[in-house]
Amino acid sequence: MRAVVFEQYGKPAEVREVPDPEPAEHGVVVRVEATGLCRSDWHGWMGHDPDITLPHVPGHELAGVVEAVGTRVTGWRPGDRVTVPFVCACGTCPSCAAGDQQVCERQTQPGFHHWGSFAQYVALDHADVNLVAVPDGMTYATAAALGCRFATAFRAVVRQGRVAAGEWVAVHGCGGVGLSAVMIAAASGARVVAVDVSPRALDLARKFGAAECVDATRVPGTAAAVQELTGGGAHLSLDALGSPATCAASVDSLRRRGRHVQVGLLPSADGTTPVPLARAIALELELLGSHGMAAHAYPGMLELVGSGVLRPDLLITRTIALDAVPEALAALGTAPGAGVTVIEPWS
Ligand SMILES: [Zn+2]
Ligand SMILES: [Zn+2]
Repeated sequence: MRAVVFEQYGKPAEVREVPDPEPAEHGVVVRVEATGLCRSDWHGWMGHDPDITLPHVPGHELAGVVEAVGTRVTGWRPGDRVTVPFVCACGTCPSCAAGDQQVCERQTQPGFHHWGSFAQYVALDHADVNLVAVPDGMTYATAAALGCRFATAFRAVVRQGRVAAGEWVAVHGCGGVGLSAVMIAAASGARVVAVDVSPRALDLARKFGAAECVDATRVPGTAAAVQELTGGGAHLSLDALGSPATCAASVDSLRRRGRHVQVGLLPSADGTTPVPLARAIALELELLGSHGMAAHAYPGMLELVGSGVLRPDLLITRTIALDAVPEALAALGTAPGAGVTVIEPWS
């Protein structure tokens, strides 16, 4: 099969022939019809993810058709249309037993722990725990756009963030996950303030339901701007980018007893990130993390997509072939772009 392979961190990846994968006993091999290009792929390529070993094939937001099935898989057969959370759970550890597969203790993430979906085929573990049926009528591109970002935003806003109608929600960073969060919060009846440095991203945020936009290049303090627009601070604020600055701005955007949800990854040299904890104490803030979404939680989200309340398809701004991936992957470092790029490995 053809795949995007890199041999060294930060050095150009290349598209080349590699052996087709085989399914594990508990796993499947999926023919990849569409796969999203995510900033986490860029972090992996840069060497920010300790789970990666070289050479490596990235890619973790995928949809496709089951091609081959392991001997112990009972729920899936060749020809099934499927997608998968980026956290593939083991199904048996205490977290999985509690229904929290998104923080599984023995998780395997395609494109990180093993070769991913920037390829014509991908092997996925523990299929009976992790595969999600793509509804009839949903395209593979839309299903791939649920990827890590839309599903992660859904859990971050709805479950971890406990959004309520009428609340003010601030979203810091309007890339794929941020725009998804804007759409989901607005559809939940919240009033959304979108924050970004890119006018194009803010235009999209407004299109997806943001009531207010803050151009972070034009105001001296984005948190103060959010506080003013919301009459004292947001009830819920998300750092959807993942940087010390946006993390702090999100916490500083909150009103008393507000909730911060950290969604963007926060890699740093020493492994820690400064957070305005003094403010968290004085204002009784809640600081929460959010990490993907378990397969069993997908039906509620898929129902809202099916009924047209949520439109992940509108997040797709670009479709590219496998050959264009090495350049697009490298470009994520300097120009993250607006919306979601979908790769079609067979085009
Ligand atoms: Zn587990
Ligand atoms: Zn991702």
